[in-house]
Formats: sequence, structure tokens, C-alpha cells
Amino acid sequence: MTATDKASELPHLTNYLKDLYHCSDCGYCVDAIWEERDIDHICATLESHSPGLSYSGQGYIKTARAWVEGEDLPLASVSEHAFTCTSCGNCERICPIGMRPMEINRALRSELIARDLAPESAVAIQKNVLEQQNPAGAPRAARYHWAQNIETAERAELVYLPGCASAYARPQEAQAAMRLLQAAGVPVKILGDSDSCCGAPLRELGFSDDAARQSEQLGAALAKQSFNLLVTSGCECAHALANEDRQTSFAGWLASALTEGKLQLAARSSTPKVSCIESCQATLGAVPNDNQTLYDILGRLGVTVNGGAPTSRFAMCCGAGGGAPAMHPQSSTEMARARMREATAKGQPDAIVSIDPRCVAHLDAARSDGDPPVYGLAEFVDTHFHLSAEGN
Ligand code: SF4
Ligand code: SF4
Repeated sequence: MTATDKASELPHLTNYLKDLYHCSDCGYCVDAIWEERDIDHICATLESHSPGLSYSGQGYIKTARAWVEGEDLPLASVSEHAFTCTSCGNCERICPIGMRPMEINRALRSELIARDLAPESAVAIQKNVLEQQNPAGAPRAARYHWAQNIETAERAELVYLPGCASAYARPQEAQAAMRLLQAAGVPVKILGDSDSCCGAPLRELGFSDDAARQSEQLGAALAKQSFNLLVTSGCECAHALANEDRQTSFAGWLASALTEGKLQLAARSSTPKVSCIESCQATLGAVPNDNQTLYDILGRLGVTVNGGAPTSRFAMCCGAGGGAPAMHPQSSTEMARARMREATAKGQPDAIVSIDPRCVAHLDAARSDGDPPVYGLAEFVDTHFHLSAEGN
């Protein structure tokens, strides 16, 4: 295949041509163990779905290279492998030479989608987002049911954007976030019927054009609003909206409100001992690391955290991302169970706290009898602290 043929036949993969020939096969993204850096493997798909090399970052690069070189690959099998990655990004974080195996796998997915070879469950997520504006396919009209009894202010300068996971799967987090914002005396407005999916679930799956259109649609709805701050709960939404310079995550807002004394928190009784489960989406791309912000806020509130400090920045995925719960429910549940086992092995906590509502909903669904309750940050604070504004 000439370079021109490759570009026309495999346009998504040829964006990464240089990367395909620079991977050094070091294997860090397959089986890294490095005690001093608190690394004990990095890929949840290899851990809980299949240990085969073709399910790893290195394997995706090798598959992509073989395809670009014209090898006759069994594409149905390539699809089965490519659509198991949870999009956690750990393989990219650990790569010592800056390769982008997760992005290359997304390009593989895009090539497979162009040939109608995406799994039915991935196509169902695409349909759900396009028709109902959320990956689970819940009715679009129900997006703000959680806000039915919450007062909002049309002229407010702060927009709260829950994201699909908070709006549907974890409405407690959206409700608690609104209570904290309002307790700080901040008038808040919501987008209501003009809100839509930011496109992150489609971008993860390789539906790149649809994802871009979703981002544009949400951007257009925001452009019609007057606001000076956009607060988001979903880590994947914060990532998708990273170009909006008036945006901050809920964790970022809460950290500032506490620093500036706008919100006073007093423990309702003795604060519970917690374990944190870190969210990989909170460390992707250009957004601030909200896993660290979570630890900072809990420390400042005097909450005892098992382990005391963030573990490595290569914390393993809970299985919530990349469409994994819909495409591979058994292995994505096992990923969540593995994270719960790690969290409780540090010392039995009274509660588990995680920053991304998508992870919180997935971890909660995987809980067994006897596991501690799982909270998002806003829910945890709202449950265990009295809230009051500056000077009250
Ligand atoms: S993005 Fe995560 S799940 Fe996917 S290959 Fe890389 S480490 Fe594995
Ligand atoms: S992608 Fe990076 S970490 Fe993985 S094998 Fe290649 S060089 Fe090593």
C-alpha cells in the first residue's frame, strides 16, 4: 500500500503513522510493576477481561501497524479486541516515550465503525446519545427530573452542568452539588431542555464526527447564555469542555469556595473514615487533577483517609469508562469489584468517596453486602457536614 492509498483507505490510523513505528515494545503498558512508584500493573482490561497482548496498548499499536501495512487481518476479531478498552488512559500515562496507544485504539475503532464492524452495543450507545442525548438511552425529557424541587435563578451568572452520569445514574450527586452551591449563597441556573450530551461517550467509542457535533451543539446552547462560571460534575464532561475557559469542575469550585471562606462546613458528628477510589478521567488531558483536589478537600475537612495521600497517578480503572459496562458487563463489574477490594484492604472504611459520578454509579452498582456506601464528593459533604454561607 502506498502512503496515498493508506491515507485514503485508513484516514483515522494514518493520523498516527509516526507513532506506529516509534513504539519501543518496552511492555510498560502491558505489565508494569514498579514498587517505588506504587505501580502494580496498569491496564484493567488485561486484569479483568483477558490477559492477551492484543487487548493491551502495545497490542493495539501492533494491530494498527499490521493493518496499515496491508496485512489481511480478521477484522471481526480486531473489533472484539478494540472495543474492550475502557479509555482509562493509563497506557499513555505510563509510556516512557509519549506514545498514544489509547488514541490509536480509538482510531482503530473509527476505522471499524466506518466498515460497520462496531459491536451492536457500541452502536446502541451511539443511537442513545443521538436520539436521547445520553448514553443509557433514558428519555431526554427526564434529564432534569432531579432538579424538580430545586430553585434556580434565570439571571444567575453560574451555570451548573450535571453531565449525563449525574443527571441520570447519580442524581443524588447533582442535587447535593446544587445544595452546596446554594449554601454558599451563589445563584445557580441550569440549561434545562437545551442541555445535551457533551459527546464524551461517543469520542471514547471512536464515533469522532458525532462526538464533535455533540460538543458543538452543547457549545451553541451555552453561547446563548450569559454566565461567568460553568460548573460541571462529570470528569469526562470537564475534559470535553476544556476549551471553555470559564469552566471549572465541581471539585475545583468547592476547593475555591472553602479557600475563600464562601462556604462554611461543620461536621454533623464524628466524620467517617474513608477510602478514595481515584478516577482515571480526572487525570486525562489538560484539566486539573481532581483526584488530588478530592484528597485536598477531605484533608482540609479533617476526614481520615485510608492511605492518607493519593496513590500513584496510574490507579487502575473501575470499569465505568469506554462503554465497558454496556459492552462487557461482567468484566467491567469485576474491575469495580477489584477497586472495592483494594479500597477496603487499606483498612475497613466507613465510606468510599470518588470524584467522577460515572465511577460512583458504577462502583455503587457493583457493591456487595457488607461493602461501605459509595459517595460522590458533593453527596459525601452534604451528608456529613452542616453547610452555611460566609459569616453565618
Ligand atoms: S486505555 Fe486503559 S484499558 Fe485501554 S488499553 Fe490503555 S490501559 Fe488498557
Ligand atoms: S506504547 Fe509505550 S509503553 Fe507501550 S510498549 Fe510501546 S513504548 Fe512501551
